[in-house]
Amino acid sequence: MRTHAVAIVGSGPSGFYAAGALLDSEDPPVRVDMYDRLATPWGLVRAGVAPDHPKIKSVSNQYEKIAARPGFRFFGHVHIGEDVTVDELVERYDAVIYAVGSQTERRLGIEGEDRPGSLASVDFVGWYNGHPDYVDLDPELSAERAVVIGAGNVALDVARMLLLGEADLRATDTADHAITSFVGSSVREVVVCGRRGPVEAAFTTTELRELDEIDGLTTVVDPAQIPSADGDADLAKGTRRNVEILRGWAERGPDPDAERRMEFRFLRSPLRILGDGDDGPVTGVELAVNRLEASEDGRVRPVDTGDRETVECGLVFRAVGYKGVALPGVPFDEGSGTIPHTEGRIEGREREYVVGWIKRGPTGIIGTNRKDANETVRHLLADLATGARDGASVASAEEVEEWLSGRCADLVDLDGWEAIDAHERAAGETGGRPRVKVTDRTSFMDLIRSR
Ligand code: NAP
Repeated sequence: MRTHAVAIVGSGPSGFYAAGALLDSEDPPVRVDMYDRLATPWGLVRAGVAPDHPKIKSVSNQYEKIAARPGFRFFGHVHIGEDVTVDELVERYDAVIYAVGSQTERRLGIEGEDRPGSLASVDFVGWYNGHPDYVDLDPELSAERAVVIGAGNVALDVARMLLLGEADLRATDTADHAITSFVGSSVREVVVCGRRGPVEAAFTTTELRELDEIDGLTTVVDPAQIPSADGDADLAKGTRRNVEILRGWAERGPDPDAERRMEFRFLRSPLRILGDGDDGPVTGVELAVNRLEASEDGRVRPVDTGDRETVECGLVFRAVGYKGVALPGVPFDEGSGTIPHTEGRIEGREREYVVGWIKRGPTGIIGTNRKDANETVRHLLADLATGARDGASVASAEEVEEWLSGRCADLVDLDGWEAIDAHERAAGETGGRPRVKVTDRTSFMDLIRSR
């Protein structure tokens, strides 16, 4: 039986799970070419997961095993939609899977959102993780207090990274430029604002609980914001644990001797980011005080009570979710920021598929992508089995390589990435760090060419 060729655009978790499922196929056998616009694979595992979460990052070991399997190739520094078009790609393969994630932020849509000192968590997270697109962000961390808008895990990542002690920070693969900034940072207090209550917050329990382990950090919650224990039995397990942790902190009270504070303030929506004139730096956030109301669809929604509160601060981080970006030539739903599909088959397209956040929106943990990718691959393999593409001129592996070499001056293959990887890990060894990240295109290419 002919070996079928599938291209995967994007090399994050969903792309790798799709690759693994495809390479498992024996009937028909499949080879996979994985594309990324960066020189480095792993998507958010490299550039999103917080550097002080090495255990979560170690999921990359699974991706390395997939990459080592026969039939897998990696092509870095290929920007689909810029260096080559989607049509050109589709023409050369039996099928194409888009696994491009959600690459931008959801906006708050409030006054002052773009003031200096008001930062999208997407940018900040990319910056401290050494994503080449964000290395120049260079945020000024000279304020004592920062506010984080949002009550999800990204909000917690940002708050924690801002408050991590130097020793904890230096043990991580945080980009060197960010370590320098964090060590010199004046931020001592972060206020995390959720627009709904502790029960509705999107934190996961492990992420909340670990805050107790951070040296020099105290967590602060107003006891008046915590629901009574009488209702605990009605809560889902994870939610109940979150509420119990928050209640424990509220009852214990803040440690007055702690060097750094993380405060949780619920039932607060940002109304305006304050500062001088239209574009003066952030001086505070005006918050609406909410109450909760059950809506007809069963969702609990925040309702403005009319009361107002101002938190003075010099930095605001917006952590209210990610949003997908359209890929030129691929259908896109602006409202949801996703590619319209039915169980991974893109609507109106015959041989194009979708996985991950650009399929289902920016929710779920890394493991969620495995099931998601399996669903898409199941349909893709079923479609291949119909033989619709048989006899068409799918490009050979060599022809693809030749085509890309002619189009992308800085093409990176799997060997190239492995050279970068080996260099980064070796550089980290002396400092007891997992790796020291290389963060710019020229250095990536110098490393590869000097092999
Ligand atoms: P998220 O979990 O969806 O949380 C977004 C937060 O922003 C929610 O609290 C939401 O409140 C709030 N929000 C949305 N619009 C708002 C507005 N206009 N004003 C005020 N608040 C607003 O998104 P995320 O934190 O970006 O995380 C994305 C996914 O990655 C999640 O599934 C998360 O669990 C996962 N993740 C996991 C880890 C980990 O496992 N360690 C780390 C990072 C991210 P409402 O609920 O009221 O809408």
